[in-house]
Amino acid sequence: MPLIEFKKEGLYVPAADVYIDPWRRVRKALITHGHSDHARWGHQQYICSHHSKPIIKHRLGDINVHGVAYGEELSVNGVKFTFFPAGHIVGSAQIRVEHQGEVWVVSGDYKTEDDGISGTFSPIKCHTFITECTFGLPIYTWVPQQQVFDKINHWWSTNQANGVTSILMGYSLGKAQRLLAGIDASIGPIYTHGAVEQMNAVIKTAGIPLPPTKYLNKEVTEKELAGSLVITPQGATRSTWMKRFGQVSLANASGWMQLRGARRRGGADRGFVLSDHADWQGLNDAITATGAETVYATHGYTNVFKQWLDSRGLDARVVQTKFEGELSEENSVESSQSDKLPSDE
Ligand SMILES: [Zn+2]
Ligand SMILES: [Zn+2]
Repeated sequence: MPLIEFKKEGLYVPAADVYIDPWRRVRKALITHGHSDHARWGHQQYICSHHSKPIIKHRLGDINVHGVAYGEELSVNGVKFTFFPAGHIVGSAQIRVEHQGEVWVVSGDYKTEDDGISGTFSPIKCHTFITECTFGLPIYTWVPQQQVFDKINHWWSTNQANGVTSILMGYSLGKAQRLLAGIDASIGPIYTHGAVEQMNAVIKTAGIPLPPTKYLNKEVTEKELAGSLVITPQGATRSTWMKRFGQVSLANASGWMQLRGARRRGGADRGFVLSDHADWQGLNDAITATGAETVYATHGYTNVFKQWLDSRGLDARVVQTKFEGELSEENSVESSQSDKLPSDE
């Protein structure tokens, strides 16, 4: 019996009778992070990292959730579970599973560059690694984040000098906080859409410092907004919410901005390549460092990535999951459920 089975409910650890990131209702669910394709509603008990706990409660309401520290060992029926930072968003974890000398690691979503708020990813030795591969093609190569933030700061400063409002789109959980943590907040005032402001408040309660922002309520005037930076989820810019602004420059921050073209930019004037997932090199380095002989690929370009790993001499397999990765996190999920416009808008 393998340590982890792939069942219709999700990843199942039979020896402990628990699931990891299940998408159907189960009794006990270990959750890698708060994105809605991983933390779903309806389980009897949730176990996640301490920093994920307030995020998951914010999204799912009154649930039974137990928080564990990174590195703390949790034993269920003799199976040892340990959460380690995944570097993806605040609270994100890789989950190490050990039983009778066999070790599997479920990566969840991860990135290898330290963004200062999401914990530091480091590879964990294992026999079998279940890795995401959202950006598992060689065309996806990220430049160091400071170069991206230099461009964003320059874009904002230039707009400010011209009295233009800079509107920067990013997913409300993860990307929005990373943008805030990396941007030069001394340039000017930063306003946030309600969904971002609420999530920021939750994340601050987890002890993560973020620069001061102002909630963009209806009292804020067009004049005040001129030259400021506004952080908003993608969905909002397709609505009447946009009518309040004077002259704007609209930018999108995502790994998908690596693909050129206006359609990929989601109608934005500018695209900044900034992802909370590992790039091609990051994925390959992480996989090598785990020492795993067997690798399961989920999220994204799984079939191509599996073939690549096979050619490197690994035993690679594809996991058919209901996960859809960052594309869904940033688009369909974003606009459909997690970022409804506040009622006063
Ligand atoms: Zn995620
Ligand atoms: Zn995901």
